[in-house]
Amino acid sequence: MKFTLHPHQTRALDMLRSSLGSGKRRPMVQAPTGFGKTLLAASIVEGARAKGNRVLFTVPSISLVDQTVGRFYEQGIHCVGVMQGQHPLTDGTQPVQVASIQTLMRRKLPKADLVVIDEAHQWFQFVGEWMADGDWRRVPFIGLSATPWTKGLGKHYDDLLVAARIGELIDGGFLSPFKVFAPSHPDLSKVRTVAGDYHEGQLSDVMRQPTLVADVVSTWLRLGEERPTLCFAVDRAHARKLANEFEAAGVPCGYVDANTPGDERTRMGQRLAEGQLRVICNVGCLTTGVDWDVRCIILARPTKSEMLFTQIIGRGLRTAEGKDHCLILDHSDTTLRLGFVTDIHHKNLDLGKHQTGGGASAEKEPPKPKECPSCSYLKPAGVHQCPSCGFMPERQSPIEEKAGELVQLNGRRAKKAEATPEEKQAFYSMALAYQRAHGKSEKFAVAKYKAKFGVWPRGLNSTLIEPDEAFLRALRADQIRWAKKQEKLKREVRHAA
Ligand SMILES: [Zn+2]
Repeated sequence: MKFTLHPHQTRALDMLRSSLGSGKRRPMVQAPTGFGKTLLAASIVEGARAKGNRVLFTVPSISLVDQTVGRFYEQGIHCVGVMQGQHPLTDGTQPVQVASIQTLMRRKLPKADLVVIDEAHQWFQFVGEWMADGDWRRVPFIGLSATPWTKGLGKHYDDLLVAARIGELIDGGFLSPFKVFAPSHPDLSKVRTVAGDYHEGQLSDVMRQPTLVADVVSTWLRLGEERPTLCFAVDRAHARKLANEFEAAGVPCGYVDANTPGDERTRMGQRLAEGQLRVICNVGCLTTGVDWDVRCIILARPTKSEMLFTQIIGRGLRTAEGKDHCLILDHSDTTLRLGFVTDIHHKNLDLGKHQTGGGASAEKEPPKPKECPSCSYLKPAGVHQCPSCGFMPERQSPIEEKAGELVQLNGRRAKKAEATPEEKQAFYSMALAYQRAHGKSEKFAVAKYKAKFGVWPRGLNSTLIEPDEAFLRALRADQIRWAKKQEKLKREVRHAA
């Protein structure tokens, strides 16, 4: 092996080896952004080549072919042929073939001893049919994805290998830490859900509202620290509106969508790096190799998809010189809804069933962060004081809060909130008045007070207050309890005798 691999990459190869060794034929490797998936792919190809095996490496769009070939070349793998129109690297005799799924759908499939499906969360029915077809059933297919959580993926792949999680890669210094603020909360209650995510047109209508658009810009001006920023919009109309609003505020802003030509995209990235542009608003530019030094992500695109969310945030997590964290301005409530990307985790591939009992959807939901009411920073679940501004929210009532938990855990009645000094004085004064009026012993008021509050009355005055209804009711309840206890004692004495 001529590559120097990081431990998580070696681990991925080990997992693959043991999965295939145990008879699995369709392993799926989960490798998050920053994992070094290219190096992993190159190692897989090298390993197959060392055994004299032919490899077919597929990508989900034609635009990714050249980038993939380029990366193989960088790793010293030159025995590559490309299947794509009149591509200069077309050479069917090469042992490693790179092709887009689109091209393969139209052509006769080449012979291969190993198939690698890159970006395998992008599912094509064609791939499912291919996997199940004749001799191909014996050929291993390895899926690679940062987010292999597509519905029904588990019907085609037979093993999920989580090579590393985002949190581990952040801890290991392979990805940048991040901070999330949730400055605005769009009302999405009227937006329909279509195929598991928000209806795009309705979502765009909500997100294009002037107050929300203005809030994106003003928040960036307040918190963005002039960071090179990638802003994710719902659709083109939304992205353009955001870009215009930034420009109007004097912030040089670019615009990119799926139709932006590659060279223009590259130029845009350079201008962002040089500071000529501060923000680039985009739609759907996740899989097209945007590889810029981004230090702030604006999420203005609400989504219910863990995959889309994780891919978007992943754009900001690459490490870079002088970058200590990525700032995430989440105007979509997505983090509050889905949790931090570091907490999204699935142990199994989704089996495409709607009901619980198997599949990714049936797994435990990640803990949800809480918003700091002072600065809108999103705190991890269970953190009380804001790590960003230090704000300590007042607890409603610590006793009630605790009691509330007790109610949930034990089904017991909540304990009453602690009495104020005034209430304690009033109780004592009523007890004293009752003691006088009913000729009770000198200890009566003191004992009642101790029974109720658990402490002796100290520093209280001896004024008398006429007992109110609540006091008398509590007293009667005490007397009844006392009487019943006496009866029970008498009965026990009789039994014993
Ligand atoms: Zn705060």
